[in-house]
Amino acid sequence: MNLFEMTALELSRLLQKKEVGAVEVTQSFLERTGAVEPQVRAYITRTPEAALAAAGAVDEKRARGEHLSPLAGIPLAVKDNICSEGVRTTCASLFLEEYIPPADATAVKKARDAGMPLLGKTNLDEFGMGSSTENSAFSPTCNPWDLERVPGGSSGGSAAAVAAGMAPLALGTDTGGSVRQPAAFCGLIGLRPTYGRVSRAGLVPLASSMDQAGPLALTAADAALLLGLIAGEDRLDPTSSAAPVDDYLSALPQGVRGLKVGLLDKNMAADFDRGIAAAVHRAAALLEENGAVVEETTLPHLRHSLEVYHLLCSAEASSNLGRFDGLRYGRSEPAENVAEMFSRARGEGLGREVKQRLLLGTAILRENRYEPYYLQALRTRTLIRRDYEAAFERFDLLLGAVTPTTAFKLGEKKEDPLAMYHADICILPGPLAGVPAIAVPCGFDAGGLPVGVQLTAAPFQEKNLFRAAHLLEQEQGARPPRPQL
Ligand code: GLN
Repeated sequence: MNLFEMTALELSRLLQKKEVGAVEVTQSFLERTGAVEPQVRAYITRTPEAALAAAGAVDEKRARGEHLSPLAGIPLAVKDNICSEGVRTTCASLFLEEYIPPADATAVKKARDAGMPLLGKTNLDEFGMGSSTENSAFSPTCNPWDLERVPGGSSGGSAAAVAAGMAPLALGTDTGGSVRQPAAFCGLIGLRPTYGRVSRAGLVPLASSMDQAGPLALTAADAALLLGLIAGEDRLDPTSSAAPVDDYLSALPQGVRGLKVGLLDKNMAADFDRGIAAAVHRAAALLEENGAVVEETTLPHLRHSLEVYHLLCSAEASSNLGRFDGLRYGRSEPAENVAEMFSRARGEGLGREVKQRLLLGTAILRENRYEPYYLQALRTRTLIRRDYEAAFERFDLLLGAVTPTTAFKLGEKKEDPLAMYHADICILPGPLAGVPAIAVPCGFDAGGLPVGVQLTAAPFQEKNLFRAAHLLEQEQGARPPRPQL
């Protein structure tokens, strides 16, 4: 087997036994990238020389017998809205086309400090706004399972890179599903951690009350390794939690015996693909056969999530993106006065979806709309959070769909924002409540496209997500299938 086809855990074992070197591993992913990136277009910026240099440093340390992280020498792809010192971070926006951050995001710093070579920065919907990676100012990314389809979004480049064997692991961000939806569309594990579990320092903010970084991986074990590395309190992010970080990897073999699982059957609408509901029911059966107690349940306020998320996300984004004015950050255009300068810089530098959301967000924060829209959305958010609190008094896990359909065609929803937003219907409630959730591959639809199921847990119970995800993997065969490219 080629090195680029292996999981991070398999590579880690080979590296620790010195059966391969980190340079060799990195080289394998770089060669694979050379071969398939022209079709897939997962990356905005590639950093092969720096990756090889980092890998070389790991090999030297290992030769000297230094103690190394299990992730030392495992290459990493990073979504391009997560800051990387000295490597441009564009957020897939013309506005930041040449922006080079002065420091690493905490998650990136931890990865680099552990000896993970950074392969490059991956494509996304501009500033994370979208569900297909078609809102990138540079290029869409294609789904490695079917190049005419979207990889999902906004972390579509990260998902496509891992699915296509261009990286063993990737970091994405999930404000309203952007790790889990692309993971489901590309047949991967995608974890959104509890709000506060991973530092937000150095994430270019979209909606600060929901933003989280999380791993995209081939297996639950790989995601567990990466979460264990990036999780933890950070003085640069006051909302990061001091709760101790569990040993996620050792939780995997515990199985699901005794776990109580709430099946969100009624939260899947009639217009969902049949293959999706079938996968959810198959997952429920597998959990039950292995000793979990599965019972149907509903969370009544989840049906308001779409409206609440878009109101709050747009409001927060309109405030957060105020910094992109051409003076503090980004491009500036020659102008007669300051107002014209802002207007030209933002008018020319930002894409349509971003402008729409900034206008909506600004509008609902105005005095006469603040109460009926913004505050009403906040109140409804509280009801959604309480639904989860009540559910987690009865259940350890909730099981449902990630998406109403499998990967859709490039262009299919691009001109129809409401259809695009609807694709997120199952992944918006979790972030509103701050709870962790994972997308787990569960077979393929009739057209051969990957189907994912979603598990949600109470805050800081990521280990239960990994236990169930690992069990579902084992029940389906240990080695994840890969797309042919
Ligand atoms: N697809 C959602 C949106 O368009 C989520 C984005 C995200 O999580 N960054 O807002």
